[in-house]
Amino acid sequence: MKNHESPYISTTNACKLCKPLGACLAFRGIEGAVPFLHGSQGCATYMRRYVISHFREPMDIASSSLGEKHAVYGGGPNLKQGLKNVMTKYGAGLIGVASTCLTETIGDDLPGIVREFRRELEEPGAPEIVTVSTPSYSGTHMEGFHAAVKAVVAKLAQGGETSEAINLLPGFISPADIRYLKEILADFGLPGIILPDISETLDGPAQLDYDKIPAGGTPLNAIKAMGSSRATLEFGRTLFAEETAGRLLEARFGVPCRPLGLPIGLRETDEFFHVLKEVAGRPIPEKHAQERGRLIDAYVDGHKYIFNKRAVVYGEEDLVVGLVSFLAEIGVNPVLVASGGRSGRLAQAVADVIGDLLPEPPLVREGMDFYEIAAEAEALKPDLLVGHSKGYHLAKHWQAPLVRVGFPIHDRFGGPRTLHLGYRGAQNLLDRIVNAMIERKQETSPVGYGYI
Ligand code: SF4
Repeated sequence: MKNHESPYISTTNACKLCKPLGACLAFRGIEGAVPFLHGSQGCATYMRRYVISHFREPMDIASSSLGEKHAVYGGGPNLKQGLKNVMTKYGAGLIGVASTCLTETIGDDLPGIVREFRRELEEPGAPEIVTVSTPSYSGTHMEGFHAAVKAVVAKLAQGGETSEAINLLPGFISPADIRYLKEILADFGLPGIILPDISETLDGPAQLDYDKIPAGGTPLNAIKAMGSSRATLEFGRTLFAEETAGRLLEARFGVPCRPLGLPIGLRETDEFFHVLKEVAGRPIPEKHAQERGRLIDAYVDGHKYIFNKRAVVYGEEDLVVGLVSFLAEIGVNPVLVASGGRSGRLAQAVADVIGDLLPEPPLVREGMDFYEIAAEAEALKPDLLVGHSKGYHLAKHWQAPLVRVGFPIHDRFGGPRTLHLGYRGAQNLLDRIVNAMIERKQETSPVGYGYI
């Protein structure tokens, strides 16, 4: 039996994804960028398939295509050839190179090989090349994502006279969330630099011709200007103690960093809007005040359907913290909060957002896989699950609805358009949770309610 006390160390159905996959997603949110994996072809194929199934968009990931002999002699020559190919075939403005399990294990010196490549390169106008170390055997896709964002900022950001812009480092959120954040910043009259920006690159309009590099993403010039912005807002409560991209901008260029929780639900969104009001020096725009008011009204209306329901919440650490904050305020009891991440800060972050809202605190577990989640949750008898589609089998086993959020969503349509953040995102999540509980009641009742 696998449990926390036993020495069993295998993972069964991981509740996290491959670390360089997160880095590739972050690079995809930069204008003109091509994600590049230094490793075997299989890694790139797996990641492309995984990303495409959720976003339903093409996703090119270049690879140095290492074989057995490179595991012995090193992958430097293949990496250099691969970079040349990407330069010729894609005309990339930036190549984001992430390492993989293989190249980390054999000890390839990624920055050193890239330096050598630059020295040997004869062509002018070479793209920016950013490298990031992403050994997947130690870490999650979210660590890879944040490491890539930090590496990009470390490489490109420059200082200068303070501008009116603010930096927004939102983490890995949906394209719909990013579009909404842009709308909010515009409504506050704030010029914003959002890094990364996958709102178009991973959810773009139909094209007659295939663009090798999709339009959109954070422009390189904007990233360069991040060192002269007047503030950075950075989402992620489990990141607070980390040396993040926001902290780097603060330490290197004196740009003040305001860490915030992912704004999911009323209270975390209030905090976000409070900071925006302060930075913009103006009150909350009427449109958003109205949305907040409607959300509170919906909290009241929906309460009778969901009060005291028991939820299992799982996924990326910062996402589950935001979801728990939201669930607690709508009257749902999260009984198990689980993540494959191991920041060491999840329990404290969950306790901070719950405050005294819940009758009893949930079990909070880091470093979990779905085998362990099933074992922990069996006795808890959940009424509902909130997480990505990898929990579907558990939901089926418990005959409980699964409200799909985050990434990946492989068994439903519209994952990139799922809105989680802000008053509007909370409204969307509330409607879906209430309807999931109503539907469950309807399905399991012999009465055949047509009016609930
Ligand atoms: S080998 Fe490592 S880097 Fe490659 S797909 Fe598997 S976990 Fe990811």
